[in-house]
Amino acid sequence: MSHGEHDVLIIGAGVIGLSLAWELSNRGKTVHVIDANLPGREASWAGGGILPDANLQHALDPLDKLRGLSQQLHPIWADRLKIETGIDNHFEVCGGVHVARRTGEAAALAGLLATLPAEGIAVEKLNSQQLRKLEPALDPDQFLAAYYLPNDALLRNPRHLQALVAACEKNGVLITPHCAVTDIPIDLGHIHSVPSPQGSLRAKQICITAGAWSAMLLQQLNIENGIVPIRGQMLLYQAATGTINRVINEGSRYVIPRRDGHILVGSCEEEVGFEKGTTPQMLDQLADFAGQLIPPLNGLEIKQSWSGLRPASFDGMPYLSRITAADNLFIAAGHFRSGLQMSPATAVVMADLMAGDTPAIDISHFSILRNSNTPDTVNF
Ligand SMILES: Cc1cc2nc3c(=O)[nH]c(=O)nc-3n(C[C@H](O)[C@H](O)[C@H](O)COP(=O)(O)OP(=O)(O)OC[C@H]3O[C@@H](n4cnc5c(N)ncnc54)[C@H](O)[C@@H]3O)c2cc1C
Repeated sequence: MSHGEHDVLIIGAGVIGLSLAWELSNRGKTVHVIDANLPGREASWAGGGILPDANLQHALDPLDKLRGLSQQLHPIWADRLKIETGIDNHFEVCGGVHVARRTGEAAALAGLLATLPAEGIAVEKLNSQQLRKLEPALDPDQFLAAYYLPNDALLRNPRHLQALVAACEKNGVLITPHCAVTDIPIDLGHIHSVPSPQGSLRAKQICITAGAWSAMLLQQLNIENGIVPIRGQMLLYQAATGTINRVINEGSRYVIPRRDGHILVGSCEEEVGFEKGTTPQMLDQLADFAGQLIPPLNGLEIKQSWSGLRPASFDGMPYLSRITAADNLFIAAGHFRSGLQMSPATAVVMADLMAGDTPAIDISHFSILRNSNTPDTVNF
């Protein structure tokens, strides 16, 4: 079966691939997105949708600039997606509460948050009364420290993905599920077509956005810098609406409210290869954490649990880059714990890069060749 030639073939329909497809199609490109399974059902669906505050103007390092650009784009994208598809992704600047119960944790949190005001991020220290007023379900007596970041935001990621799929389809993007690519053949520095279960796929440009599974494609291309899947487990409660109204963070764990009373609890970092699934031990740990942090959750039945595989690069920064073994191959993968947050900025800078334009932020730090001996085989 032949699909004809598209301007761009995107391999992987997670939040990164779908965001890029939408951005490119808004710029008039014809786009084909393929996915090994159904679009938007892997890490992007499994995640929590927390968008910690970031400020492009004052950000110091490249990753924070990418977050900062995204933070500007999320409300604009949420509005546009709602207008174009009727789907509300529940984007909301709800604020985030950050607490610590142990001395070391409190010191680490204070140190971490102390750097933020210089980067244009508002931080307020809370006393017991203020914490009680903000989130009455928390018991202030159990915390050594509590802070409020008023500009932390949140979106409901499964809805966001649904909206992206609908917006892409409205723009004429072809989305093909159950189409896993295993081989990207390069012929004299160029990719003419990509073999797939749905036939030979032809496009002027190809971008790998296969999340954790980009690992296999990078290996096949003999790229030294790889990607490792890092599993995160989540559990879900149905609580009374408004039990909490903001994301509550403690260390690397968090509790996330949805508008309908659903509460998500996460997460962990497990290196178990491509093994998805949950473990009773981790679910117990997450339930204990949630019950101690938010007493009304104590004893509630777990409604659902799941896991997702985060794509981690060797240094925790994504690869947003050409792959220079071919003159028409690109990658946008490796967003680890922040892919939902960084997705709109990723789409915009990748669309710029693919058009030959200079992106709004310096993306040289995100090159796939950083810290690598891979020879730069093609000159541009
Ligand atoms: C528990 C958990 C909580 C998280 N919480 C947050 C959060 O609060 N905020 C945040 O910003 N981020 C969060 N993240 C991280 C975020 O989910 C990821 O960084 C992001 O989803 C990565 O998006 P992606 O599109 O690269 O990958 P994915 O969503 O995994 O998409 C990759 C897609 O590629 C497809 N694919 C794979 N191989 C092939 C192939 N060979 N051919 C074709 N298609 C292929 C897959 O089927 C999949 O659909 C969380 C992640 C987890 C697991």
